[in-house]
Amino acid sequence: MTAFPATNIAINAAGHIAFAGQDTVNLAARFGTPLYLMDEDRIRANCRAYRKAFAAAFGKDGFDVLFASKAASYVRLYQIMTEEDMGVDVVSAGEIATAKAAGYDMSRACFHGNNKTDADIAYGLDAGVGTFVVDGLEELVALERECERRGVVQDILLRITPGIDPHTYEEVATGKVDSKFGSAIATGAAEAITASALGCHHVNLAGYHCHVGSQVFGEDVFERAAWVMLEFAAKIRDDYGFAPRVLNLGGGFGVPYVADEEPLDISAKCAALAAAVKAACADFGLDVPRILMEPGRSIVADAGMTLYTVGSVKRIPGFKNYVSVDGGLPDNPRYALYRSRYTVLAASRAGEACDMEATVAGRCCESGDIIQPGVMLPAGMARGDILAVCTTGAYNYSMASNYNRIPRPPVVMLSGGEGGAATVAVERETFEDLIRLDAR
Ligand code: PLP
Repeated sequence: MTAFPATNIAINAAGHIAFAGQDTVNLAARFGTPLYLMDEDRIRANCRAYRKAFAAAFGKDGFDVLFASKAASYVRLYQIMTEEDMGVDVVSAGEIATAKAAGYDMSRACFHGNNKTDADIAYGLDAGVGTFVVDGLEELVALERECERRGVVQDILLRITPGIDPHTYEEVATGKVDSKFGSAIATGAAEAITASALGCHHVNLAGYHCHVGSQVFGEDVFERAAWVMLEFAAKIRDDYGFAPRVLNLGGGFGVPYVADEEPLDISAKCAALAAAVKAACADFGLDVPRILMEPGRSIVADAGMTLYTVGSVKRIPGFKNYVSVDGGLPDNPRYALYRSRYTVLAASRAGEACDMEATVAGRCCESGDIIQPGVMLPAGMARGDILAVCTTGAYNYSMASNYNRIPRPPVVMLSGGEGGAATVAVERETFEDLIRLDAR
């Protein structure tokens, strides 16, 4: 039997996978497949764990935790973030529009993006976004111009590239000098943009931001990033007289996708980070700024599971076996993008021995449409069985596409454990949705 990567997965009395206490085979029958499930209780627990750990580490007014909503963005999630007293980070006008539709208080939002258009800037200002995270000089100039035209002053952070290698997938490592994001300390760009921001009259520099990467497991990556950022802050204080009120250290805490990856100890991580921040501030003679962090994946990843129905089991003797399902690349492009690992479970045969190695493949006309190779499944798997892919709460729905004109699955929120509620947060797309915008 395959070990589970999260504690909200179990085998129930029917021999099925239960997720958040609910029978996945029943959920598949009720809502159809492919199906995104989200464990609302787990999302809330993750938010609370972060807020509690940060309050203990930095004091109740010394921090904010922002959900990086690129990980999963739909109205229900922003409502939950309001209820859990969480800030949010947004990266596009579309995410802002979604947060607004949820009634989210945009004054708590940080607006990211390495190429905000003039329209994005205007949209963010109209929406009352609390903080723009300015990525580069052109954005600073464009924002200053638009704020001057409106006669407003906008709070900003500057996105700084600290030059830290987080030892994660290349595609999600963002803190290195050659990143497309932010202004690097090493090249002098960070100092130059800070000097420019201090000379602006319609933006108010509150501090700095960095994000070193995603799916980071390295022991002291965040502590090193904090130290480099505070060293930079001290140099700017010495040369320009400006000390930051806010330091946003981004997101990126790693999450186990398979049982042999270490689960995150949020409170230990926060305590270590707080110790490093306080030590660096003492060394550099800085007041401890308000510390923000923007976890995305570690708030929602383990709250997600995707269910599929098996369509075919193809055995190629001497080569390999394929188990093909009714979703794939359009609802989960992460294996194709990053070779991401996943735990895949035979939800309808959970008690059976897993004695067949198979590649779980999607339904697209694309050889690269693979969900996971090397999966151990029961040899009896057949058309009609339900497969569960674990830990799909982050960067699955939000990265979904309509490739091959396949409608996106619904998102169903589970709460209350066994016998609890299952409510649709996002409806299944229809063919009419797919062709709605096509000129006819
Ligand atoms: N903040 C920024 C600026 C990001 O780019 C990202 C992810 O790419 C995050 C936060 C969230 O990272 P994660 O989901 O790994 O916590």
